[in-house]
Amino acid sequence: MGGRSPLKKLTLLAVLLCALLLAGRPPEEISAQETMLPRTPLAPRRSPPLKPANPPHGEPGPTRTATASTISSSSPKLGITALPYPTPILIYHPAGEVRIPILLYHHVADPGETSRYFVSSQQFEKQISSLRSWGYTAIQIYLLVQAIEGGADLPMRAVVITFDDGYRDVYQNALPVMERYGYTGTAYVIVKQIVVGVYMNTKQLKELVDRGWEVGSHSETHSNLRKTKTKLVDEIFNSRLALEELLSTPVLSFSYPYGSANPSLLKLVQQAGYQSGAGLGSTGRHTLKSRFYLSRLEVEGSYDLIEFARLLR
Ligand SMILES: [Zn+2]
Repeated sequence: MGGRSPLKKLTLLAVLLCALLLAGRPPEEISAQETMLPRTPLAPRRSPPLKPANPPHGEPGPTRTATASTISSSSPKLGITALPYPTPILIYHPAGEVRIPILLYHHVADPGETSRYFVSSQQFEKQISSLRSWGYTAIQIYLLVQAIEGGADLPMRAVVITFDDGYRDVYQNALPVMERYGYTGTAYVIVKQIVVGVYMNTKQLKELVDRGWEVGSHSETHSNLRKTKTKLVDEIFNSRLALEELLSTPVLSFSYPYGSANPSLLKLVQQAGYQSGAGLGSTGRHTLKSRFYLSRLEVEGSYDLIEFARLLR
């Protein structure tokens, strides 16, 4: 029989319209000019509680949950007032591949000269406000992994914002901007560097956790793990236990120093009870197979807004 009934045609048209509305536009369609134009921003995401990590040695795991819902709308201590955002639309993502850019920062500060690892506070604010105006909602690594493994409700357009090494300028300069735009991030810290000089101290890390950030391990001493044979247990296993004890929160993700890893390291990270490993890469595509070496896109200090937008493709 040829042709569809008018009712079927109408239904098909409605479904197509809905799909188009829900899909939004891909970031690659964002023109250079639009990057300067603020649009109606979306809301800060209220994340579900962190899944507790596998209890070490069969003991009960920490019961504390770090959630984005612990973020207050304003922070008198930091002198920040969060901008108001409407609630983001969440869509159920079935288990399997996800396409979400994971950004990687190191310092958020002005180094005085151009450095790959320093994004100035001004640049950072421009990038975060642009992400907002482009409709991105920040989620944490654990939710991305949850979506891959078993499915999860995800914002229509999600981004993960990570910081390696645990520098104090992340607390001083990145946190206030992230709070202002209703975002939370994931900080990977070097356990032996906590409280030392330019690094965040325990109190500051606890505050990040209280504000809904995820904290992961970036090893104990930041050694290149492919070259370290003897201390792997300390670097991978014990760094997690120490952080969990220090911050009273599950530590679910590990970031490889220098992005340096091999298949046996990936296995060790999994055996140590982490749910994911963060590496370096050039894609925003993640699968069950890649969850112990998630591709992260480094935001370099010299990037302008166009180069930054390109990372999100
Ligand atoms: Zn590092």
